[in-house]
Amino acid sequence: MADGPGLGTIKTTALIVAAGSGQRLGAGGPKALVELAGRPMYEWSLEACLAADLVGEVIIAIPPGSSGDFPEAEAILVDGGQARSHSVAAGLELVKTEFVLVHDAARPLVTPDLIDRSIMALDSSPEVDAVIAAAPVTDTIKSVDADGQVTGTVDRDGLRSIQTPQVFRVEALKKAIASGDLESATDDAFLIESAGGRVKVLDAPASNMKVTVRADLATAELLLSRASG
Ligand code: C5P
Repeated sequence: MADGPGLGTIKTTALIVAAGSGQRLGAGGPKALVELAGRPMYEWSLEACLAADLVGEVIIAIPPGSSGDFPEAEAILVDGGQARSHSVAAGLELVKTEFVLVHDAARPLVTPDLIDRSIMALDSSPEVDAVIAAAPVTDTIKSVDADGQVTGTVDRDGLRSIQTPQVFRVEALKKAIASGDLESATDDAFLIESAGGRVKVLDAPASNMKVTVRADLATAELLLSRASG
């Protein structure tokens, strides 16, 4: 696994967060373990991380008590926490590299190419603390009041739909977590922004979707079968 062109950093640690309860999916167990196209959902992300040239170790934050369901040979397992950012904080304790790439197990369509491009983008952007995958917004976005009355239409050119992977300078993320509101952060870049840090987006395809509700499973299966076929 050779380093990419001009990459001065040592390999990046990938941290897959897989400790969610999967309540919105309604599968009766952790979302990361729900079968998707013939394997547990988290395996798609793990395989992509292991295939990426610029990833060294992989850590998976798992639902406490579920270590028997995850592969200890391929990844370091750590118990996740109550909120997503608590799971990230738990995994971060084990990271020894300069960069960490955080990825949701709920995004099984991630590719080794997107992972490597995200790491290279942070390596070549010394002015920022994080690089995050993002897709253009294609829907028309409107603001509404409490009664559902439209109050405005937002210019979507200046908007992005944010995904993972998100790659961070480990020291910056540790500081942001130490002072951040972990309960309300829906991604880790929010914590960097709240701490006054700088975050840059990297164009990513909308197909790098998140599985949240039951209907997403069918879409993800279709996309996965197309990607592998
Ligand atoms: O709930 P949501 O789909 O936003 O979760 C995004 C990712 O964060 C999922 O992969 C989920 O497993 C993970 N997560 C976690 N620990 C939690 C909550 C969510 O690792 N406490």
